[in-house]
Amino acid sequence: MAVADSLSAHPQKTDHPPEAVERRVADALGALSLEQKVRLLTGADFWSTYPEPAIGLRRMVVSDGPVGVRGEHWDERDPSVSLPSATALAATWDEALLERLGALLASEARRKGVDVVLGPTVNLHRSPLGGRHFECFSEDPLLTGRIGAAYVRGLQAHGVGATPKHYVANDSETERFTVDVRVDQRTLRELYLAPFERMVVGARAWLVMASYNAVNGATMTENALLDVPLKDEWGFDGVVISDWTATRSTEAAARAALDLVMPGPEGPWGRALVAAVQSGAVPEKAIDDKVRRLLRLAARVGALEGVAPAAPAPAQLPAAEAARLVREAAAAGMVLVRNQGDALPLDAASLRRVAVIGPGAAQGRIQGGGSASVHPHYAVSPLDGLRAALGQRAEVLHALGTRIHEGLVPVAGDQVVDPVTGTAGVHVRLLDARGHVVHEEHRDVGRLTFIGDERATRAATIEVTARFRAAEAGRYRIGVAGVGAYRLAGGGQVLFDGMIAPDKDDLAAALLAPPQRAAELSLAAGQEIDLALAHSVFPGTIAVAFSLGAEVPALPDDEELARAVELARSSDVAIVVVGTTEAIESEGFDRSTLALPGRQDELVRAVAAVNPRTIVLVNSGGPVTLPWRDEVAAVLLTWFPGQELGNAAADVLLGAVEPGGRLPTTWPSRDEDVPVLSTKPENGKLVYVEGLHVGYRAWARAGVTPAYPFGHGLGYTRWEIVDMAAPASVAAGAAVEVRVQVRNVGTRRGRHMIQLYLSRPGSAVERPLLWLAGFASVEAEPDQTAEVVATVEPRAFAHWAAGRWQVEPGVFTLHAGHSATVLTRQTAVNVGA
Ligand code: BGC
Repeated sequence: MAVADSLSAHPQKTDHPPEAVERRVADALGALSLEQKVRLLTGADFWSTYPEPAIGLRRMVVSDGPVGVRGEHWDERDPSVSLPSATALAATWDEALLERLGALLASEARRKGVDVVLGPTVNLHRSPLGGRHFECFSEDPLLTGRIGAAYVRGLQAHGVGATPKHYVANDSETERFTVDVRVDQRTLRELYLAPFERMVVGARAWLVMASYNAVNGATMTENALLDVPLKDEWGFDGVVISDWTATRSTEAAARAALDLVMPGPEGPWGRALVAAVQSGAVPEKAIDDKVRRLLRLAARVGALEGVAPAAPAPAQLPAAEAARLVREAAAAGMVLVRNQGDALPLDAASLRRVAVIGPGAAQGRIQGGGSASVHPHYAVSPLDGLRAALGQRAEVLHALGTRIHEGLVPVAGDQVVDPVTGTAGVHVRLLDARGHVVHEEHRDVGRLTFIGDERATRAATIEVTARFRAAEAGRYRIGVAGVGAYRLAGGGQVLFDGMIAPDKDDLAAALLAPPQRAAELSLAAGQEIDLALAHSVFPGTIAVAFSLGAEVPALPDDEELARAVELARSSDVAIVVVGTTEAIESEGFDRSTLALPGRQDELVRAVAAVNPRTIVLVNSGGPVTLPWRDEVAAVLLTWFPGQELGNAAADVLLGAVEPGGRLPTTWPSRDEDVPVLSTKPENGKLVYVEGLHVGYRAWARAGVTPAYPFGHGLGYTRWEIVDMAAPASVAAGAAVEVRVQVRNVGTRRGRHMIQLYLSRPGSAVERPLLWLAGFASVEAEPDQTAEVVATVEPRAFAHWAAGRWQVEPGVFTLHAGHSATVLTRQTAVNVGA
């Protein structure tokens, strides 16, 4: 056995702060009293750190992330550019694109006064049921690491800090605050820590976020993994920031390598930590190390006077340019998994009547739920996108087909008028305990979120009033979504008065996907009623979120479906948009099934039965089951692609661009086929019994065929791998350069992703049957052969044993192919001792 050099696999270490910065940091540190130092180590509020004018330190603002930069306010008045979610980004397999998106995020951050983005999320797709699956890149650590590192580089190259999260093994949401993940060291190193390593050692991330869960018995904000490998082995010189409210102790967390407690100003450190240092329970040098890291971060982002930031501020990207980039990225991530008889691209000239059907058609889902969500400037639905692209050339008609029942939708637009301003929207008043108005404002929508906003959280009552107008006659449901005490009056009656208890045991879920209470009202067309909702704010709370919502009359389901089928029958092509919702794919809980909600499967089948040109767009963040997939002409996965959903989809459907994506995660046929499915802890423990066998590795071992394998994705041309060359033998610790000859055997120019996998027949150590070892893209004209050069890093040959990276000398098989299951060339590489 030979020892491999663990770090030679990565790009060179760069951008350690220069001497002068370290001196400035040391001087600043030396000028602070113990109390001043400790104060800096807990947030000043929900989204920022304390300033310390005595040493020229301003406050720093942190913000979610990762699909945009929300800033300090969570409402529609402060919108953000909404980027594709992580699964869509990983599906591009395109690091250069990710760096450009990083620059866009940096420009957004600076526009909003943000110094640090709380992302990327680099936990793995261990189970497709994971609630934040859409927010994580991939089931593979190499793809996750390379895509995530590009995100980090792009952001930090423009002086904004990145925060890979959540360190570590926070791969599902059930019992996320307390779950103790039991996972062996080798699996941790080779799978779950590997992406973080690449982002820290390779991309030199300035922060890492410690997660809520425990690993092998210790909660992550106190876990020794913060020291080894993060700070000790990988040389992380940045700040370990806690996930929000994840710090549970004064001494244990302070003695561990956690640096910054968020949010503030309350928390377990503060005065208690000063006392712990004074009593000798926590050494002062531990405090100094934390403060030094915080000051180093401040220097990097330009928050410490007297030193130049690590990078110049980004240029402000004009909105139109941002939109173009987001549109390009969304299309680059869309994965065409099926294209029977070259149904796509559609020939716009031959289309006269296009049906756009389904719950996502006019109301596409651009993002998942939870802390990753932002208020976009706008969202282009597939219907809007196709109408814009086809213009007058074709009639683009819509039918809902079926609703995904979600209950109340926050009131908005021409549904409501603010009774005070007379403009579209609602009126909000904050009242103190004596009933005096302390603040009032107009809002465009009935969804209100006040996080760390003391004016609202310290109010006694928040009151929302609106004049609601019934667009059509019928039965409306009007009510509230929230947790706590509410009174809702409408049309002279009390519609609800009482307490709403949380239905999920997670703070974020209770805030962002709360339970609903509603009353039914019969209204005439054009009828107006006055609504007044009062919420009694729970004393001492740090966050309030609730909505005034309505559910409008709808056709009976069968009628809705029949209309869609009729439209499909009489159209040249039927485009059906199915998917999940923000409420299904979100934070704080896992999914219970991969099935599409409601009657969407039935809708697709009914449409396909009357129109052979049925194209299905799957608008979900993670895998869903598609039991009808062989009955339709084409299936395009859009993921949650951000604000340009409809334009990007139209670009792909009409062939303006190729669908660029390849699956970053396996799509199963049926829930019960998934090798690692359950995310339910038992007695508080979630045991990663499958060890290294996650994702396509597990599918290969189980011998089960998924609906679509990892790496799969079609373009608009076809490819053949004609040859592959790699050195027959290499020394342990050396990188392997692989040359692959790829021929475009189709009829148009295109881009393809060549994937390299390794396997080790007859291995002396347990291994996955195959693992991704490298990838590179190729572009070529029809009939042209191009050469792809991809590097397999030394780490790909190494495994973790007895506390170090080792290489089993001997012959590895190197495969080149189009997905984890279509491997068409192989060669042997003998790795020396
Ligand atoms: C999430 C983090 C997020 C933080 C702040 C937590 O609940 O797990 O990903 O950055 O909230 O919103």
